[in-house]
Amino acid sequence: MIGIDSVVKTRWECVVLDEIRKELAALKEQGLYRSLRLVESEQGSRISIAGQELLLLCSNNYLGLANHPMLKEAACRAIERYGVGSGAARLVSGNMELHEALERRIARFKGTEAALLFNSGYSANTGIIPALVGRGDIVFSDRLNHASIVDGALLSRAKLVRYPHNDIGALRKLMMAHNSAGRKLLVTDGVFSMDGDIAYLQQLVAIKKEFGAMLMVDDAHGTGVLGKHGRGSAEFCGVSQDVDLHMGTLGKALGSFGAYVAGKSELIEYLVNTSRSFIFSTALPPAVCAAALAAIDLVDSDEGTVLREQLRRNTSLFREQLSTAGFDLSGSATQIVPIMVGEAPLAMEFTRMLLDEGYFVQGIRPPTVPAGTCRLRCTVMATHTEDDLAGAAAAITRVGRKLGVVQ
Ligand SMILES: *Cc1c(COP(=O)(O)O)cnc(C)c1O
Repeated sequence: MIGIDSVVKTRWECVVLDEIRKELAALKEQGLYRSLRLVESEQGSRISIAGQELLLLCSNNYLGLANHPMLKEAACRAIERYGVGSGAARLVSGNMELHEALERRIARFKGTEAALLFNSGYSANTGIIPALVGRGDIVFSDRLNHASIVDGALLSRAKLVRYPHNDIGALRKLMMAHNSAGRKLLVTDGVFSMDGDIAYLQQLVAIKKEFGAMLMVDDAHGTGVLGKHGRGSAEFCGVSQDVDLHMGTLGKALGSFGAYVAGKSELIEYLVNTSRSFIFSTALPPAVCAAALAAIDLVDSDEGTVLREQLRRNTSLFREQLSTAGFDLSGSATQIVPIMVGEAPLAMEFTRMLLDEGYFVQGIRPPTVPAGTCRLRCTVMATHTEDDLAGAAAAITRVGRKLGVVQ
């Protein structure tokens, strides 16, 4: 019986699997195929891949906290005391002391009444947006916003209006054209993840006030890094009190994992009751919360100030060397420094040749960025040395010349 069954192929095997194979082959042909690289070391500024030591230039661990001794120790202590898993969603039996302590700490850090944890930035955006808007409402979203914002907006069934990147004039026209009843949510990355430029939050605040919209800022790449105290892009732009929803992540500069939204207590109370990715998902493990708590304390301390200063110095040094070499760095104003390359195969060849030189910089292709704007997305860390970055800029210039990206 088993013999006969295994000879007859199902529709899944004949048709669907065949379509999948063809799609994979097409991705390879277009230079859009993705595969995983295995990192064998901890996430320091130098990592090991396939036995080779490489300078890491594409991590979001901007302050080097992912392997910081204080975070490791906090996580270990939390495991000793609370165990490994939370065992259930927060609203069932998974709500633990560290969740609430971390939420209070985040609210204090961001200067808001309250905060709520989510299991990742992706899950925050796909949980918050559909809770706040629905049919008959409108989401105004910067064209370069993160995929999780787009997915959250699509899931909400609100009308999605995407405005040209950082184009306040165009946004204002679109706001006037769509000035109907219903809720309006204006949402932007604080720091744009693939371009490294900063949203014009002061202008966005003016627009949200003029049109009565809610303003949500996704500060995945600004949290811990931007502003005098590392509170993010809203602190940097001086508009902390005018942002309605401060969303941020704990897995990038904060070195741990998870995400949050901070804002008014009623808003948080409402999300606890309506946000599906919050309600229907197991709570973050205690160790992750303990590490994030330690990270915020660190970011808020003198050591945090020193790390941010180091990151700024490193970034301007690196950016200067690359601009001098003639690279187009888009509008980068932060530790995210994209080198514009153009087509996907060229970007991937650039990455491959840099690996041979001992540098790991990931090439970024569609659908992460628009077609024809493939790039090397370099990210600077506070834990890079000046020599590290000078060496990297020299290697990038050598390879860039070989490939004809610069003269
Ligand atoms: C990384 C990122 C996210 C997703 O956060 P995760 O915690 O990695 O899921 C959301 N928004 C932006 C802008 C990001 O860069």
